[in-house]
Amino acid sequence: MATYSARQLYYDGKTQRATSNKTFESIDPATGAHIADIHEASRADIDKAIQSAERAFPSWAATPAIQRARILQKAAQLLRARNDEIAAAETHDTGKAFSETSVVDVATGADVVEYFANLVGGGGLNGETTQLREDAWVYTKKAPLGVCVGIGAWNYPIQIALWKSAPCLAAGNTMVYKPSEFTSLHGETLAKIYTEAGLPAGVFNVVHGAGDVGAYLTAHPSVAKVSFTGQVSTGKRVAGAAAGHMKYVTMELGGKSPLLILRDADLENAVDGVMMANFYSTGQVCTNGTRVFVPRDMKAAFEKRLVEKMQFVRAGPVMDPATNFGPLVSRVHHQKVTDYIRHGIEQDKAKLLYGGPGQPANLPRELQTGFWVQPTIFTDCTDSMKIVREEIFGPVLSILAYDTVEEAVQRANTSELGLAAGVFTSNLNLAHRIIDQLQAGITWVNSWGESPAEMSVGGWKQSGVGVENGRRGIEAWVRNKSTLVDMSNVVATAFAKL
Ligand code: NDP
Repeated sequence: MATYSARQLYYDGKTQRATSNKTFESIDPATGAHIADIHEASRADIDKAIQSAERAFPSWAATPAIQRARILQKAAQLLRARNDEIAAAETHDTGKAFSETSVVDVATGADVVEYFANLVGGGGLNGETTQLREDAWVYTKKAPLGVCVGIGAWNYPIQIALWKSAPCLAAGNTMVYKPSEFTSLHGETLAKIYTEAGLPAGVFNVVHGAGDVGAYLTAHPSVAKVSFTGQVSTGKRVAGAAAGHMKYVTMELGGKSPLLILRDADLENAVDGVMMANFYSTGQVCTNGTRVFVPRDMKAAFEKRLVEKMQFVRAGPVMDPATNFGPLVSRVHHQKVTDYIRHGIEQDKAKLLYGGPGQPANLPRELQTGFWVQPTIFTDCTDSMKIVREEIFGPVLSILAYDTVEEAVQRANTSELGLAAGVFTSNLNLAHRIIDQLQAGITWVNSWGESPAEMSVGGWKQSGVGVENGRRGIEAWVRNKSTLVDMSNVVATAFAKL
């Protein structure tokens, strides 16, 4: 059984002892076993971490972009060199299969570090010049914000930490980062990698704790920006607290995303897309396409192929390369997802096509104490069912039959959430028309889930504010200064002599 050393805090460029005298546990979701103690930050510790970031800010902001880029490039190299070791820790912390974490979590995080390093090193933070008149022009400058806070969710711990810290640091800010209390192992590891890459002390700092630590960070007067990933309800509290000091915010929140299959879609590709959109990371992906709209006269064929392919969802020992379906992250989340599945059967009266409450069949005995659920498919669902309206954040798929494409688009848009959406069809003109009408910030055509560094992602409606990644992602970490230069004398027409 894997165990890890106790995790402390990290500021002033080194590991620091927490003064709260409180610890909480990191649990392996596959077995329910304790794997590490995490030391919780006291308010005095958080203040010290913020002061460390404040002290580091002026010289880091003044460091030439190309030098900042060089350090981040080195960090990306170190992350890649230690991929398997970090991925294994992520697997034991989150329960996600190593076959996933070893190819996605660290790698896509390192890609983002490299992307923003290259962007700022290549002049991506330059402002604009606008000629107004022959002797007058405006120029703009992009300035870093100051001390920023990153607060992460538990589903992609190190990837979220990297998606926040990479553009933040590349733009010349400093950061205090708080991982989710359920998945804290990666924070200190990442801080040490940044230090090894040459990041000056205080530029990236880590504190551990639960929601109260996040709330204290969010409300702290020395903090200029909060970048948050988590649930909509928490996001509203965080944005409300940040508004107190008019802080900048980025909100990456939940979704209940529609996936539309058109009659002319390639059935194999559509079924594969639906499986990716519902069972990858055991359904714990914010962009999951859990509302699957299928033409009524195609439903039987679609369901038949989907159920046939469910044999390829393989629960088992999480480090086994053949396993592609792990447990849910925690006991409390397991209870929540199981309650939704029961609600779907008992209250919503949806038709259970596959799975249901309970553990996957043939789970080895040593895993039966873990937080496992079966991948579950409901069909004959209606828009008003609770399992169709609310984010479950587990492997629970709802099939909704439709008669016309217009109707499917209209129903897809009824959600208050607008994180992701997508369409499977061989009619590309229609695909673009539909994508244009779908109310979501992240969309796919004949694909699902890929989120490369180059692609700006962020939710519409209650799914978020702002974007991460891509060229637009850097804008969330700078403020603009516009300067008007006039080489002629001030023409004070209002006060001119009559
Ligand atoms: P939560 O909202 O429960 O928690 C997110 C983070 O906020 C955790 O670190 C949590 O601490 C912290 N927190 C809790 N209360 C407060 C507070 N009052 N002030 C500041 N911070 C606080 O989300 P989950 O961890 O359950 O993550 C799952 C959610 O994240 C899903 O809804 C999912 O859709 C969303 N998500 C969105 C993504 C996107 O890009 N749009 C990507 C990934 C996930 P702690 O947990 O330690 O108590």
